[in-house]
Amino acid sequence: MAPGSPSAPAPTLAFDRIRDPALRPIANRVGEGRRLDAADARVLYATSDLIGLGTLAEFANARRNGDRVFFSANQHINPTNVCILRNTCTFCSFARMPKEDGHYTRSLEEVYHEAAQAVGSPTREFHIVGGLHPKLRLSYYTDMIRGLKERHPGVHIKALTAVEIAHLARIEKVSVRDALVALKEAGLTSLPGGGAEVFSTAVRATIAERKLTGTEWIAVHREAHALGIPTNCTMLYGHVETADDRIEHLTMLRDLQDETGGFLTYIPLAYHTEHNELGEQLGRVGTATTGYEDLKNIAIGRLFLDSIPHVKTHWPMVTPFISQIALAFGCDDVEGTVVFERIYHEAGAHTDMGMAYEGLVALIRDAGKTPVERNSLYESVRSDFSGLGQARGGDRRAALPVVHAA
Ligand code: SF4
Repeated sequence: MAPGSPSAPAPTLAFDRIRDPALRPIANRVGEGRRLDAADARVLYATSDLIGLGTLAEFANARRNGDRVFFSANQHINPTNVCILRNTCTFCSFARMPKEDGHYTRSLEEVYHEAAQAVGSPTREFHIVGGLHPKLRLSYYTDMIRGLKERHPGVHIKALTAVEIAHLARIEKVSVRDALVALKEAGLTSLPGGGAEVFSTAVRATIAERKLTGTEWIAVHREAHALGIPTNCTMLYGHVETADDRIEHLTMLRDLQDETGGFLTYIPLAYHTEHNELGEQLGRVGTATTGYEDLKNIAIGRLFLDSIPHVKTHWPMVTPFISQIALAFGCDDVEGTVVFERIYHEAGAHTDMGMAYEGLVALIRDAGKTPVERNSLYESVRSDFSGLGQARGGDRRAALPVVHAA
């Protein structure tokens, strides 16, 4: 019987690993497949029994996904870093004002040139996000998507956060729905989950004052789901938010998923403190979230978001090493090959900008899991890696990097 196959034996919950008595009633509910509520989530955030928490999340994940871990051969493309919210998203290190040092905007030919690295490589997804440029019109993106599909017909296009979609609709004076329809007709496959940050109004007033509200972010995703465009969802943690803010955020995501079923994966994103105003304000430059926080947010995401099929660990933010451990904390989805990661490297991420395909497979295998390459829609495209190089153990560090920051 193939590990991770639907007929694999049901997992058992190791109650003896749970030390915190406050987790035991929750363990019973998880064992019975019952939904957790906000009070349960508060207990999960308060516990210091990380192993107990991870045990519950690993059980919940194994029941849904077996021991399969999905990854994608993807390539990130950031067409512009010019953003009109550059001065109010205080946590952002990526954006620049239109005339500020370091600003850039790619022509379509430059985008196609960067994407051309997919030719002859296994890339199956372009992940395209950028800033809210005051002058780039919707046609720039629809033309880009059409041009990419012509050049790479087999590659899926996951593009534009809810914030970018709402911005494009506003400058075109069309509805969000019409903007999404135009993008879908051009060849858009799905939406990424960025721009969510933390939905709390108070948190947004501090870190992203002029950004789309949480309710508006949810409305864009609801519209996408209604049009048959699946999306991802995220939460940026580790800045000024409280546990209650996180729980409110997760509840809003779960409510939409209950309504539409359109979310594919949930990705907790770790705030990085370098080169942004918020890091300086908080006196946190040079610090990052801890592995403890990273694993806790993965595990709680898995336990609370019971109707979202996948939970992804983003290795460029938390390191490949924490991502590998996250596979035992409820996570069944790893960020892909990426090729050029810019957004978190502007904020001080010290990881490599991309990871070799073989390195990803080795990372998953070394954690005792079964790698499955997926496309943007989480359809399995490859599960036999027998012909692949066997980078393992001490060799694996050397196998991970593929592209280094300049
Ligand atoms: S977080 Fe997004 S919307 Fe905000 S400044 Fe950065 S690129 Fe612009």
